[in-house]
Amino acid sequence: MVLWCFMSNLDKLIRLFEQFPGIGARQAKRFAFHILTLPETDTRELSELIADLQGSVIECTSCRRFFARNGGGNECNICSDGERDRTKLMVISQDNDITAIERSGVYDGLYFVLGGTLPLLDKKEQNKLRGNGLKHVVEERLGQELTEVILGFAVNPDGENTSRYVEKLLEDTLKDTPVTISHLGRGLSTGSELEYADADTIKNALTNRS
Ligand SMILES: [Zn+2]
Repeated sequence: MVLWCFMSNLDKLIRLFEQFPGIGARQAKRFAFHILTLPETDTRELSELIADLQGSVIECTSCRRFFARNGGGNECNICSDGERDRTKLMVISQDNDITAIERSGVYDGLYFVLGGTLPLLDKKEQNKLRGNGLKHVVEERLGQELTEVILGFAVNPDGENTSRYVEKLLEDTLKDTPVTISHLGRGLSTGSELEYADADTIKNALTNRS
C-alpha cells in the first residue's frame, strides 16, 4: 500500500474520486485528467465551491436532507412548512428521491432520508444508515399527528430488504399504536428506482400504496 504522504496530488485526487458513488478506477482517472485540461479560473472556482460547500449546505435536523441555508433555521423548507401534512412520513433512501416525489406534486407529507439502502448480502451497511435517527423521529411524532409511515424504496432485492429492515426497526415502537406502515414500492414496477421515475409513475405508486 502506498502511503498517502508519498503520493502525488494527481494520485490523491484519483483515489478520492474512486470513493464517489458509482465511480470506478477508470472514471476516477478520467475526472482527474479532465481537471488538468480546465482553465485556471474553472479549477479555482471548483475548489472554492467544494471548500465552501460544508459551510453553506447543512443537513436538515428533521428529515436529514441537505439544503442551502440562507440565514434561516436548521430545518429545510419542507419540514418548516406549516401547510405540509404531518400525519404522513415517507422514508426514502436518498435526497434525490425527494426531488422526484416533489416533482410529481402529489405528496404533501414529510420525509426522512435513511441515507442509503441495505444490501441483502452486506449486513455491515446497516451501520451507515440513519436507523436510530428514524426511530427517534417516529417516536417524537407518535404523540403528535403521525398516522402513516410510507416506505419509499426501489422495487429490487436491496430495496425490499431495506423495507424489511425498517419494519423490524419500528416494530416495537409502532406496536399498540394506530400508526400503519405502507409500501410505495408495490405501486411501482419491478426494478424501478424512485430517483428516475416520472411524475405519473410516482402518482400511481402513491395512489396504489398498500
Ligand atoms: Zn427537512
